[in-house]
Amino acid sequence: MASAKVAKVKKQSNPVGKKGSENTEEGKKLSDYEILSTIGTGTFGRVVLVRNRETRNYFALKVMAITDVIRLRQVEHVTNEKEILSSITHPFIVNMFWANHDDTFLYMLMEYVPGGEVFSYLRNYGRFSNSMANFYASEIVSALEYLHSRSIVYRDLKPENLLLDRDGHLKITDFGFAKKLLDRTWTLCGTPEYLAPEIIQSKGHSKAVDWWSLGILIFEMIVGFPPFFDDQPFGIYEKILSGKIDWPRHLDPVVKDLIKKLLVPDRTKRLGNMKNGAEDVKKHKWFKAIEWDDVLARKLNPPIIPKVAHEGDTKNFDSYPEDDWQKTAAAGEKDIALFAEF
Ligand code: AMP
Repeated sequence: MASAKVAKVKKQSNPVGKKGSENTEEGKKLSDYEILSTIGTGTFGRVVLVRNRETRNYFALKVMAITDVIRLRQVEHVTNEKEILSSITHPFIVNMFWANHDDTFLYMLMEYVPGGEVFSYLRNYGRFSNSMANFYASEIVSALEYLHSRSIVYRDLKPENLLLDRDGHLKITDFGFAKKLLDRTWTLCGTPEYLAPEIIQSKGHSKAVDWWSLGILIFEMIVGFPPFFDDQPFGIYEKILSGKIDWPRHLDPVVKDLIKKLLVPDRTKRLGNMKNGAEDVKKHKWFKAIEWDDVLARKLNPPIIPKVAHEGDTKNFDSYPEDDWQKTAAAGEKDIALFAEF
């Protein structure tokens, strides 16, 4: 049955742990875990640090209230997220062990990545050196190549979704916008600063959007702020569509060349999206020194080693109020039924 903590506060008719076909992890029931503290929040959920009562190992549990998921029309997104995360394994993508639900919440148990968000490091440093950005970009290219080879588009690349593991290597998290492609997809989603022109213009989009956001990300890592920004999303969209970028003088011409080739509005001419795919990005001069097999083998030296005192250390994450999230009301029967496969 469900965790003592959750079960205490609400009626439980749908047992957590009935399924768990994903990557194996000993405790598949919520009650096998002790819920510790919130390490992240999103619009319709939170990520909490949990500890397996038996093995004493730590994990990150993403918890989403079924009523919120439905109210915010996120059923398809969370279903995509769970389906995609359970079908992939990659050194630079957060590993999900299982997903499940009870009458109130959807749960996804993931490895806990204790180093915190690249976003926090970037704000603390102001900007990253060329070689730091090159390290993170290499690990992202390796992950994007893997995803695209499986017809998966990530669609939400940004520093908030990049975590550092204990050694300083990247783990991409939050597959809430990821999508397995059949053909082109058409929904407007993502974060304004990182949206490609074809998404704003509703022209449909594809793997090309990830290469566009890689261009934005490399720019932001090296310059300290994104190339198109404004107080209002609409202002950001206008700037993206205008295509005008103010290039700071300190920018290395080689990385500038790569960013320009990624931020090409015509996606048929965008680096990464032509017939050689990711290979064109990997062969760019900015990655000249990179041995791509070494990247995948996590052999590159991470530029930041996070300070992690112990396995369950959360000091690299902000603190969040716990509110009374565990007292959320159960969803109706029909709503719960939407997640029968979750
Ligand atoms: P998400 O709702 O997936 O975007 O997660 C919200 C925040 O929770 C992220 O921005 C991270 O700060 C944190 N987070 C998500 N997944 C993990 C994880 N596996 N380990 C540690 N922190 C995480």
